[in-house]
Amino acid sequence: MGLLFLGAHMSIAGGVSQALERAASVHSNAVQVFTKNNRQWVGPPINEEDVARWHERKPALGIAYAVSHASYLINLASPKDDLWEKSRAAHQDEIVRAHAYAIPHVVLHPGSHTGSGDAAGIARIAAALNHIHAVTPECTDTITCLEIMAGQGNVLGRNLAQLRAIIDQVEDQRRVGVCLDTCHAYATGYDIRSDAGYEAFVAEVERWLGLETVKVWHFNDSKGALGSNLDRHVHIGEGEIGADGFRHILNDPRWDGIAMLLETPKEETLEEDAMNLARLCALVEDAARIPPGLRPQV
Ligand SMILES: [Zn+2]
Ligand SMILES: [Zn+2]
Repeated sequence: MGLLFLGAHMSIAGGVSQALERAASVHSNAVQVFTKNNRQWVGPPINEEDVARWHERKPALGIAYAVSHASYLINLASPKDDLWEKSRAAHQDEIVRAHAYAIPHVVLHPGSHTGSGDAAGIARIAAALNHIHAVTPECTDTITCLEIMAGQGNVLGRNLAQLRAIIDQVEDQRRVGVCLDTCHAYATGYDIRSDAGYEAFVAEVERWLGLETVKVWHFNDSKGALGSNLDRHVHIGEGEIGADGFRHILNDPRWDGIAMLLETPKEETLEEDAMNLARLCALVEDAARIPPGLRPQV
């Protein structure tokens, strides 16, 4: 097994490339970013200076992997035409921005059907992705990763079969993958905490998606109990999943090369990220796989 790619979601205050400095400051070798303010529909034009700085600083700081997360406003499952078109344009922009930064994966919440039903919502998501793929042929190396969701209300992507149903309707399936969020998976009912539950979950991933469809992990402990549908991220080892759930994933050769990113609560000092990264590294059986800066000092 190779080196682990470990990191956290980092702020882009001061420019997207500033997230690289933050990732390096906690000695991580992977990072998740927004490529624009995630609470606005339309961002400023792509800042070419920042893009150039990103391409120079990323290798210089030893950041081996970066992923972006699409805006929370986007709802490709919406039955309302105006919101759907706005969402489609916004996700297209996410892909184009990520591509400029050579980011291979854009994590997307599949969306909420807001009452129109699962089948209608799934068809809307796939139709939006098919359109986006058709109009961005230059961006084939930046793909959408549908995130598994905690399963509240009308939100789609609440289980692996539903992620499969979306992907089934995508014409160019090379341009979609999935993101497995530990908190969401647990909250929606997958018991990754126990040995047997974890093995059963991986078997389900294999059955519905194929392991190669998984492009990124989000590492969050869960405030909510198994099957609670509660999407509340807490520090590693302090939630219902506990250290064992993360131990399984970290030491499983089937995830070799797949990055694992924290989205846990934190302050600007990033102390909590450092703490959670240290907790994860303490669970890694082969110390040679720990990113160099995070290896325990001997
Ligand atoms: Zn997310
Ligand atoms: Zn997540």
